[in-house]
Amino acid sequence: MRILIVEDEAKLAEAVKKGLELKGFTVDWLADGEKARTRILLYKNEYDLVLLDLMLPDVDGATICRDAREAGVMTPIIMLTARDEIEYKVDLLNSGADDYITKPFAFDELIARIQAVLRRPSDALPGTLSIRDIELDTGKHTVTKGGQPISLTLKEFSLLELFLRHPNEALPREQILDHVWSFDFPGFSNVLDVHMKNLRKKLDTYEESDPLFETIRGVGYRING
Ligand code: CA
Repeated sequence: MRILIVEDEAKLAEAVKKGLELKGFTVDWLADGEKARTRILLYKNEYDLVLLDLMLPDVDGATICRDAREAGVMTPIIMLTARDEIEYKVDLLNSGADDYITKPFAFDELIARIQAVLRRPSDALPGTLSIRDIELDTGKHTVTKGGQPISLTLKEFSLLELFLRHPNEALPREQILDHVWSFDFPGFSNVLDVHMKNLRKKLDTYEESDPLFETIRGVGYRING
């Protein structure tokens, strides 16, 4: 799950980013409204959710939200507002935002709002994803294989979740990298192969002729049901 935070208060943005990363989300942060508008319009399929501050120094959050909706971007958007901006509430919801949260907020409340928005039926995200004898619980953040718990790192969990949302589909390397790692990730693309190797070691104990993960030459990887 990948989230874009648009917020000009660095301290708040960094705290939220850190908290969400600990919950297993991949997070990008932008402080600039214009850059955010461009990013949302160009990379609309890369984000599962946008946290959008209402008062930004250049273009305000409601305008960005309205522009995104007019351009057909359906990514869920939660607006961040200060208490004295509450009069803009109607304007906010008319802008096409899915929800809003008033600053200062408790981190748990933010998580609850995020989960509520992500579970909206439009793209119903099931709590449990499974393939063969493997089950991934998105709420509890656990994975079992044949009923036995498997311990995965946050990145391995994100990777597996992405594959489980696209069973039997060849996923291009770029799409996987974009989804699981932030734009500012300084590493090399072979970091993906390292994680895939570890994931295979933990999960792919099937017959060699019937592998769970398959390398698709020149494309990326596929999970086979
Ligand atoms: Ca602000």
